[in-house]
Amino acid sequence: VAMLIARYHSETPSVNKPILLLAHMDIVDARPEDWERDPFTMIEEDGYFFGRGTHDNKLGVTALVSSFIRLKGEGFTPKRDLILAFSGDEETGMETTRALVTTYRELTDAEYALNADAGGGHLDESGDPSSFVIQAAEKTYATFELTIRNPGGHSSLPRSDNAIYELAGALKKIEAYRFPPMINDVTRQYLLAESEAKGGAIGEAMRDYATNPNNLEAADTLYDIPDLVGVTRTTCVATMLRAGHAENALPQSATATVNCRIFPGVSVETIMERLQTIVENAAVEFQILGEPMASPASPLLDGMILKIEHVVHTAHPGLPIIPYMAPYATDGKEVRAAGIPTYGVSGLFIKSSDVFAHGLNERIPVKGFYDALEYWHDLMIQLGE
Ligand SMILES: [Zn+2]
Repeated sequence: VAMLIARYHSETPSVNKPILLLAHMDIVDARPEDWERDPFTMIEEDGYFFGRGTHDNKLGVTALVSSFIRLKGEGFTPKRDLILAFSGDEETGMETTRALVTTYRELTDAEYALNADAGGGHLDESGDPSSFVIQAAEKTYATFELTIRNPGGHSSLPRSDNAIYELAGALKKIEAYRFPPMINDVTRQYLLAESEAKGGAIGEAMRDYATNPNNLEAADTLYDIPDLVGVTRTTCVATMLRAGHAENALPQSATATVNCRIFPGVSVETIMERLQTIVENAAVEFQILGEPMASPASPLLDGMILKIEHVVHTAHPGLPIIPYMAPYATDGKEVRAAGIPTYGVSGLFIKSSDVFAHGLNERIPVKGFYDALEYWHDLMIQLGE
C-alpha cells in the first residue's frame, strides 16, 4: 500500500493552520469478464468516462492534483498551506489513512480536512442541480458475532437446551429492541432541510423530531423508514447465521452476525454491553470483529461553510447546501478520530441513477468531471484566502 503527502506552501509562514485535502488512490476490485468494457482502461463513450475508480476515487485524486498544478502555473500563492494527503487502502483497512494523521501528523496537521471522496452535488433525473451535500459525520461500523455452544448429541434424543433455539431467542430480543433516539447538529440540519422535500406525514415527523428529539411519536414514525431510522439512532441488525453440522445431530454451536451502525459519540463497548443486557443470556458469547473505530461528528464551522457556499453558489445560485451523516465509512472517520474535523465535499454533480461506485460499469459524466476540476480550483483559492 502507498500514501502520498504534498504541501502547497504559503508565501510567508501563516498563523492559520493548513487545510488538508483528502482522496484515496486505491479502488475496489473489478472482474473484467463481468464488465461491458475493460474496467482498467479509461473509455470515453456517450458523454461518460467509464472505468473502475472513475468515481471512487480517481476523480478526487485527479481533481486535487491537477488543481495544485494549475494554481502553481497561475502563480497563485495561498495565505496558508494547503496539503494533499492521499491514502492507499481506504476500501479495506484504512491503515494508511490512520498513518497519515498519526505517524505523519507533523506533515498533515490541519485546522480541518476536506474529503474529495464524499458529499457533493445531486442532479435530479432531468439533469438539473437539486442540492449540494456536505458529509460532516459518519456512523461507526461495528460487527459482532453471537455464539451459543452446546454439547449436542443425537437428534433422536432432543435435550431441553438447544444452541439454535437459544440463539434464535437472543436474536428475537435484538429485533424487538430500539436504541434510544439521538441527534446532533449535523442530523438536525439535515432533517430540517430535507423535511420540506419529503413532505407529508414523514416530512412533518422529520421537522418535529429535529425541533424536539424527545418527541417519541416523531421518532417512532421515522423508525419505520429505512433511509431515516439510521439518522435518528444506532441500529443493529442480524445479517448472517451459521449453525449445526449434520441434519441428524443436535447443534454443537450456533453463531449469528449482527452488524451495527453506531451513532457518533457512543462507544462500541457501550453498544456491546447494551446488546448483552438485551439478550439476557450469559451463555451467549460476544465477539467484536476487527477493530471498529468510532469518530465524532464534525462541528459545522461557519468559515468553512461560507467558502463552500461561495464556490457552489457562483456556479449554482441559491442551491440548497445540506450537511449529512453517512451510514458508511470513508477516510473521514480516521481523520475525525485523530482530532481533525472533516467534511466530504466532492465537486461532482451526478444523478443517483449514474452512481455505480463499487459496482459494474462505474462511470462519471464527462461534464461533471470538468466541472469538478473548476470547483476544486476555485475552492482552493477560497481556502488560501
Ligand atoms: Zn471511496
